[in-house]
Amino acid sequence: MALFGGAPAMKKGDMVYAWTTDKAIAEKAELGGAVTGLWKYALDKKLVDAVLVVKKGSDLYDAKPAIITKSEDLKNTAGSLHCGTLLLSKVITRYLNGAKDKKIGVTVKGCDLMGIIELVRRKEINPENLFLIGVNCGGSVSPIMARKMITDKYGVSPDIVHKEEIDKGQFIIEYEGGHKGISMDELEEAGYGRRTNCRRCKYKVPRQADLACGNWGVIGEKAGKATFVEVCSDKGANLLAQAAKDGVIQTEAANPKGVEIRAKVEGAMLKLGDKWRKKDFAKLKADTWGTINRETSRCIRCYSCIENCPVCFTKATDLKKPSLMVGAGEVPPNAMFHMRRFAHISDTCVNCGQCEELCPMDIPLALFSHAIRVEGDSVYKSKLGEATYTN
Ligand SMILES: Cc1cc2nc3c(=O)[nH]c(=O)nc-3n(C[C@H](O)[C@H](O)[C@H](O)COP(=O)(O)OP(=O)(O)OC[C@H]3O[C@@H](n4cnc5c(N)ncnc54)[C@H](O)[C@@H]3O)c2cc1C
Repeated sequence: MALFGGAPAMKKGDMVYAWTTDKAIAEKAELGGAVTGLWKYALDKKLVDAVLVVKKGSDLYDAKPAIITKSEDLKNTAGSLHCGTLLLSKVITRYLNGAKDKKIGVTVKGCDLMGIIELVRRKEINPENLFLIGVNCGGSVSPIMARKMITDKYGVSPDIVHKEEIDKGQFIIEYEGGHKGISMDELEEAGYGRRTNCRRCKYKVPRQADLACGNWGVIGEKAGKATFVEVCSDKGANLLAQAAKDGVIQTEAANPKGVEIRAKVEGAMLKLGDKWRKKDFAKLKADTWGTINRETSRCIRCYSCIENCPVCFTKATDLKKPSLMVGAGEVPPNAMFHMRRFAHISDTCVNCGQCEELCPMDIPLALFSHAIRVEGDSVYKSKLGEATYTN
């Protein structure tokens, strides 16, 4: 049965190029504005009560979550922010009551989606009320790194940059008086580039969302003007079909050559993820416990890693009680505090990197929990069968 009424002309597995017919959205959008156009349609038709998206914060390198209930407010949320990225799953539990009483649309990257799936498993989020539009993600760059990299490698002041994008393997900036692109490989070899957890990530096309959207595979005259959409669910097929039928979105079949190119790029990105895992984990393996002991000795016990972990549900206020995990006033906490935390999340760490990103002491926590998770997976793989995602 069609979820949104009418007869869907799309089905799961279809691949199309799509773009919005709304000029104001198209102007601000990354690649034709299909994503924002679909959210506008969903809000106008009351298919969702609110949309959770990401918009520019204090500058180009900053991002903030936005809960939108009026479609006219959507145009400022169009465009891709590759630097100040953040994880959306906990926003749904904290500010949207886990979508238990409202229908919520969310734009998700792979890490957002994995966080949501874990929270659904823990019954913190109601999946029935969620509509998920996924955006492919080859990785993001931290705001601090972006500023440093633009100064050092591009020789440009980050304050005069008005657009950043990642295209064809390059990090490209546009600024007053010019534009420059440098390949990610070159940047990363020189110690710059994407967040380390993003480099190791192997969830590039979020197929567990209702639609998976991106620029990979858009070729010919639509390159740069349309988004490649892979239909991943009946819900997604219905939304796209209805929006196209009502003229809000335009679509055309994806060029078969583009489909081939997209698959090749995805394959290459997965291999790159393997390469970075091998490199990062090898360094750690040389002295696992020594490294963890040394690095965590900087911990100031602020509990940010716990507060921001999408799979950890111990309340930081509970942890502050002296009888739990660590003694009163013990700073840094003994290594067992961290060991217990790793054990607690080791089966479900989604490698979102938030623990590390938000650690004021720069402890490579994501590396530790990701390494433990991947090692656990390799031991128990035969027992667990195929994981739902491969991160
Ligand atoms: C960090 C990032 C990396 C990407 N990397 C790739 C890639 O390697 N290959 C590829 O094929 N496509 C990639 N994309 C997807 C691509 O850039 C476009 O977002 C997609 O094609 C949709 O374009 P659009 O014009 O339809 O979207 P728009 O209508 O412009 O809407 C974009 C949507 O993305 C949301 N958004 C912006 N930044 C973020 C963020 N950091 N986290 C979560 N949501 C965000 C916006 O709020 C909005 O809802 C990436 C997107 C992001 C955000």
